[in-house]
Amino acid sequence: MQQFNQLTDRVWYQTPVSETDRPILGLIVGAKRSLMIDAGNSSQHAALFLEEVERQGLKKPDLLALTHWHWDHIFGLKEMNVPSIATKRTVARIEQMLDYDWTDEALEARIGQGIEIPFCADAIKLEFGPTRDIAVQLPDIQFEGELVVDLGGVHCILREVENDHSPGSLLVYIPEERVLFLGDAMYADIFSAKWNYTVERMTLLLDAIAEYDAAYYVWSHGEAMPREVFEQEVAMLRQAMDVTERAGGKISEMRRLYKETVDRVLTTDEEETLVFFANGMKS
Ligand SMILES: [Zn+2]
Repeated sequence: MQQFNQLTDRVWYQTPVSETDRPILGLIVGAKRSLMIDAGNSSQHAALFLEEVERQGLKKPDLLALTHWHWDHIFGLKEMNVPSIATKRTVARIEQMLDYDWTDEALEARIGQGIEIPFCADAIKLEFGPTRDIAVQLPDIQFEGELVVDLGGVHCILREVENDHSPGSLLVYIPEERVLFLGDAMYADIFSAKWNYTVERMTLLLDAIAEYDAAYYVWSHGEAMPREVFEQEVAMLRQAMDVTERAGGKISEMRRLYKETVDRVLTTDEEETLVFFANGMKS
């Protein structure tokens, strides 16, 4: 059951669903306008979000920012029907999807060509069932680098960042509320044969994130993480990058070095992170 939560005075979000890969959707409510973060994975997802916004008596979104091009963040765009913003690289990727069919056969064919992955195809089938009325829409406004939106008393800084998950991803920082929406930028590259992180891109991403003095970090498929917990996550990633470089990406040596440093058995999260970095050294 999805919930609609208030995070700070002017920041709200709807919780995600892992089975159908519904990401967190955010709403930043200013005195003049409100901005939604991501459009949802379907018209139903977007419609449910709008119902909640109405139920809470909040201002309906006037603008929408897409964190990146992946289906689960953009398929609700038509239902939202408000001006949408994305990076130039995200728009270019969505353009490639305009002519796609979404039948089982078309999905299978694209998996065969290496441009779709089973993880997404399975979730699309679950979210939509057998009838898939999917109309991909292009964002209205595109930018490179950084774009600041003034909503009236509250600002959204849309920042394009280097990251492994999806080139052209953007973060949304709301300085007055000290909230940073990460989109999927902290997740691995899932469109490669082996899911991976690279030391180079993760370093650039963490350095960009460190520029913002956030109290909360919102992971699209996770939670709104308080700063103390996020800092532990960053420390783990930096430690993982350190052993990746010292071990030259050799997984057994990475495990040994990491274990030596933390002086305990690795958690599942740490183990997975090391594998992703090892995969990134090979790709
Ligand atoms: Zn994604």
